[in-house]
Amino acid sequence: MQQLTDNFHRKFEYLRLSITDECNFKCNYCLPDGYQRTHQKQFLSEAEIKNLVSAFAELGTKKVRITGGEPSLRKDFSSIISTVSNTAGIVKVATTTNGFNLKKNAQNWFDAGLSAINVSVDSLDARTFHLITGKNIFQKVMDGVDAASLAGFSQVKINSVLMKGLNDNNLELFIDWIKEQPIQLRFIELMQTGDNSDFFNKYHISGQSIKEKLLNAGWIQKVRSSHDGPAQVFTHSDYQGEIGLIMPYSKNFCENCNRLRVSSLGRLHLCLFGEEGIDLRDLLSSPDDKEKLKARIIASLGDKKISHYLALGQTGGTPHLASIGG
Ligand code: SAM
Ligand code: SF4
Repeated sequence: MQQLTDNFHRKFEYLRLSITDECNFKCNYCLPDGYQRTHQKQFLSEAEIKNLVSAFAELGTKKVRITGGEPSLRKDFSSIISTVSNTAGIVKVATTTNGFNLKKNAQNWFDAGLSAINVSVDSLDARTFHLITGKNIFQKVMDGVDAASLAGFSQVKINSVLMKGLNDNNLELFIDWIKEQPIQLRFIELMQTGDNSDFFNKYHISGQSIKEKLLNAGWIQKVRSSHDGPAQVFTHSDYQGEIGLIMPYSKNFCENCNRLRVSSLGRLHLCLFGEEGIDLRDLLSSPDDKEKLKARIIASLGDKKISHYLALGQTGGTPHLASIGG
């Protein structure tokens, strides 16, 4: 089996595939004015997704995360899950969702072959949730989280971007919540993107300060395995849940990079904060182009940089994370 590696000996077994850049939320750090369509192009079709994932699988990809925008806005979402999960070599299919469609679909998605789910919940206070996301549906999203556990997902993960003065006072509430629940909370440090500089400067708090709070409260950092991505994970004997910290500004964050991204328009992004991306779309419509597609992916990896340059304020070509899939 071929294996995707780069010039820095990093191995890529994980694909983040965006299937739409549309979203129905207005998260203040991502799409504060709501989704604005900036192109007339069609998103990848299911047939293109099938060819793409099959090529990646033959290059050693084992896990695919389907993301967006909001992936569940696509009417064919369940069918896409099933296509990806039925691809030879793919052992795990995950998604990241804002939870809007979760309550009514958790069981369908699980049955279609989805093996893991991350739900974005930026606050456990309904009013703050509304303030951040522009949607007054906190309870509906939380019902969705419960529905996901009931459907059979063994560990639902909750993504939360902590922001100074907005929701950082929710930290204790979040931690109390996982005392009796086998949930993994993932606190993501706010990242600067092309569109959110002023917001970032006002609300960014360092993940390091949260890490210190956790260590002082008796949380213990888990030893990383070679397959782990960049999250630092903490456990505590009094808690059923776990806490993951994603700290893109920390030293050596990119050392453990194990992922590649493909946008909903079929561009390969070597980094969330890289430049324009490499167009793969001309090779996606026919399975006969698979070898050419694989060759283009392998050749592109030679350009993957050792790190992003976020600390220098360089956000690459990414206006917001909805554009290429966070
Ligand atoms: N719409 C889905 C959702 O919100 O879960 C999936 C796409 S969203 C871009 C994926 C994740 O990226 C979400 O958990 C979101 O909170 C996070 N995110 C978006 N913009 C971010 C930023 N500027 N900094 C840190 N995380 C961000
Ligand atoms: Fe939509 Fe997700 Fe961005 Fe929020 S973070 S606006 S839910 S894409």
